[in-house]
Amino acid sequence: MARYGMVIDTKRCVGCHSCVISCFMENDVPDGYFRDWVTEVVSGEFPNFRTEIRSERCNHCQNPPCVFVCPCGASYKDELTGTVLVHIKKCSGCKACMAACPYDARFINPKGYVDKCTFCKHRVDRGLDPGCVSTCPTSAINFGDLDQPGSHLLKLMEGRIVHSLKPEAGTKPNIFYLL
Ligand code: SF4
Ligand code: SF4
Repeated sequence: MARYGMVIDTKRCVGCHSCVISCFMENDVPDGYFRDWVTEVVSGEFPNFRTEIRSERCNHCQNPPCVFVCPCGASYKDELTGTVLVHIKKCSGCKACMAACPYDARFINPKGYVDKCTFCKHRVDRGLDPGCVSTCPTSAINFGDLDQPGSHLLKLMEGRIVHSLKPEAGTKPNIFYLL
């Protein structure tokens, strides 16, 4: 089994929102909803401020509470890739997964089912990168198999400060940010 994930270089991100726009177009995201978004975090104390600009989405967690709480078997982890997906026909729209997700990564599509990032499964299955990866003008977003020895993702992390979001939640995210 692979472990699909992303390594996102916050030093390269310029906050242009190309990832968000390409996701809208690629996935027919309804107006007013988002499968990915850009967050700006300022930390430190004067004069040593640090600004981190992050493209965020579902973390395709290794330990996903959204899957564990789903009463319909609609939310699941793909056995071959580790990607967390939703069977939209099985989804009752009960929102249990939305309450369980510590990252606010899901929303109810007006068509009546829960929706979120799929790592653009329809593209990846054809050998393409997710839409956000292929349109990022600075190559800040990188996608691949985190378990593949010597992969470009592992090389990107070498010598960098690496963090994931809310590690204290115990979800084991598969998206890593480089500072
Ligand atoms: Fe589930 Fe949220 Fe983790 Fe995505 S980020 S796998 S929706 S818990
Ligand atoms: Fe499962 Fe859908 Fe309910 Fe989420 S909203 S817990 S995917 S049935």
